[in-house]
Amino acid sequence: MKDNIQEVHAICKKALTDGSLSKDEILVLLNCPEEHSDIIFQTADAVRKKEVGDQVHLRGLIEFSNYCKKNCEYCGIRGKNKNIERYRLNKEEILQTALRAESLGYRSVVMQSGEDPYFTAEVLADIISTIKAHTDLAITMSAGEFTYEEYKTIKEAGADRYLLRFETSSEELYKKLHPDSEFSQRMECLHMLSDLGYQVGSGFMVGLPGETPEILADNLLLLQKLDLDMAGIGPFLPNSDTNLAGAAGGTLINSLKAVALARLLLRNAHIPATTAMGSLDPKGREKALQSGANVVMPNVTPEEFREMYQLYPNKICLRDDPAHCRKCITGKIQGLGRTVSNEHGHSLKIKKGY
Ligand code: SF4
Repeated sequence: MKDNIQEVHAICKKALTDGSLSKDEILVLLNCPEEHSDIIFQTADAVRKKEVGDQVHLRGLIEFSNYCKKNCEYCGIRGKNKNIERYRLNKEEILQTALRAESLGYRSVVMQSGEDPYFTAEVLADIISTIKAHTDLAITMSAGEFTYEEYKTIKEAGADRYLLRFETSSEELYKKLHPDSEFSQRMECLHMLSDLGYQVGSGFMVGLPGETPEILADNLLLLQKLDLDMAGIGPFLPNSDTNLAGAAGGTLINSLKAVALARLLLRNAHIPATTAMGSLDPKGREKALQSGANVVMPNVTPEEFREMYQLYPNKICLRDDPAHCRKCITGKIQGLGRTVSNEHGHSLKIKKGY
């Protein structure tokens, strides 16, 4: 045990200065006993402070449609789930939600949906350009896979960023969990987004059935290889409306370690304290913010639709109105001695001219 703590210390000390971690070193940190994990969290927190400062960026999350043509095994809004009511916000409702977010002080929104065939690139472009004409919000899209031309249309309408998680770096596991998607296509989409000048975010779930520590280490190395502007990591939380209902979920400790290691590897990328972390543990988001994270994405979707957008169970803040959420999260951030950013929260890679 003494040997292990010295090894964890030595790896963290090296990572603090240069961020170079081999797969073997990542595995030592992932597999270290829980009582040694604080060393990793404190190191990630120090790197976060040095690279991205004490400001926390808030992105208002607009879940504008829970229709989806796909059937990812872990997902509560997968097309074949007949147990949920489906909804779509119309253009006016989305615009009003964005305006409300801006009036609450948000400088940035994330527009998220399932892969809903109604929202073609042209329809999305029209909505994005309308929001851009009426607000000063930065817009992140998160609506799945499109062709190069379609991503281009969305970008030209004014979208600044795109989130597309790969969920696992194992092609075999990816295939099992995504019956109608290909890992190679997902990678291709991420390259297209980067090529088109989007600020690109990706990420993965921790604790998916079939995941091994080696796969988790590869997930982290893939984040680094993709040279992402944003990286989202959250625990797998089994949804009772899916075939994975009986599977064990991801743990908080492993999810926090993954966030911390992502910070050590990605340095100045934006890393959210995901809502899934807060759903797993009442202090999950605060713990993530103290382990390398620097972004929170409070929900600004109108209250009447929130219950219907549950990718995983026990999602927090379903009944809280957006003004309450904004106040609540600001209080939590200030309670950690951090401040809420008043900026758009664009990629720091761009700011530093990389
Ligand atoms: S994870 Fe996304 S693409 Fe997959 S079923 Fe859920 S909403 Fe659809």
